[in-house]
Amino acid sequence: MKFRDLGAQYQVLKKDIDAGILSVIESSDFILGKPVSELENKLAEYVGRKYCVACGNGTDALQLALMVWGIGPGDAVFTSDFTYFASAGSASILGATPVLVDIDLDTFNISPEALEKAIIRTLEEGKLIPKVIVPVDLFGQPADYGKILPIAEKYGLKVLEDGAQGFGGNIKGKRACSFGDMSTTSFFPAKPLGCYGDGGAIFTDDAEEDARLRSLRAQGKSPVDKYDNREIGMNSRLDTLQAAILLPKFKAFVEHELDDVNRVAAWYTGRLAEHFVTPKVPAGFLSSWAQYTILLKNREERDAMQKHLKEQGIPSMVYYPRGLHQQEAYKWMGLKDALYPNTLEATNRVLSLPMHPYMKQEDVDRVCQALLEK
Ligand SMILES: *Cc1c(COP(=O)(O)O)cnc(C)c1O
Repeated sequence: MKFRDLGAQYQVLKKDIDAGILSVIESSDFILGKPVSELENKLAEYVGRKYCVACGNGTDALQLALMVWGIGPGDAVFTSDFTYFASAGSASILGATPVLVDIDLDTFNISPEALEKAIIRTLEEGKLIPKVIVPVDLFGQPADYGKILPIAEKYGLKVLEDGAQGFGGNIKGKRACSFGDMSTTSFFPAKPLGCYGDGGAIFTDDAEEDARLRSLRAQGKSPVDKYDNREIGMNSRLDTLQAAILLPKFKAFVEHELDDVNRVAAWYTGRLAEHFVTPKVPAGFLSSWAQYTILLKNREERDAMQKHLKEQGIPSMVYYPRGLHQQEAYKWMGLKDALYPNTLEATNRVLSLPMHPYMKQEDVDRVCQALLEK
């Protein structure tokens, strides 16, 4: 059994993906070719933003958005402590300081209450200027924007949605990658919408931000003269091949994969809810199930369960084994465990199960059987 079976998806979409790849090779238009702008337009329309700018990966997408806002030394960027490193690293690399915030254990997303406390603490300390909140749509579920956006408004902060795992989710029909001032996503192969290499995108409703992003992803070039560089940018373009692969994958995602993955999640929850803490999707929220993550009683039981599953040939993952405040790269900040009780609880107890839209009910049954017999 595969944790995320990209091969099964390829077998279904092979004809269209192969044709797309061939036509790019025949066109010799390898970087930012026509399929890239076609993809940008389709994704912007789907998420409900005016503009989409494709780039090299989801980490660059975050960095490019922060660059547009001029984020740098002395600025505080608030993000979740329980996420992939890029949510914070993208601020650090610009010289800004990530302020790491504890999560809600129910959703694994940033806690709005802890967020407001962290903003107040930062203002009181007076060393950093609060600038941006980067909420993460972890495991496919949008963060609690109903509470986060008013906090941003109250303190005059920008909101950059890290939708790397959230693409396809929604809150009352409003789609992930449309919340806050700008949003980003990643096309890393294992994400809800993945390509066959690295890729990412930024979404905005602002024409000036769109133009700056297009310039910054190509060395800060002028929109009229490619060899007139107006500022220092990055080299972060999307390969045309990746866009040609993403187009049929996006079609399948919209037509059935998002429904399929929600059906798989419902099978899991139906079998497991009485025996484990299963994922909670609050009323009005839809998850795109980047991960299906249960909580076991404690670290010992989690580790024993992972070992037991492995012996049955069932892969599982611990997303994430430590909080960002525990990363070696952030040791210098001297952040105390006591600020992150829910992150710590999650790191000790989480276990992500095999999950993808091509999973059959008998596969889910096999995983559940193995979990329940232990
Ligand atoms: C994967 C991921 C990223 C980074 O995306 P890449 O394409 O791997 O650079 C950023 N944030 C989160 C939450 C992610 O899961």
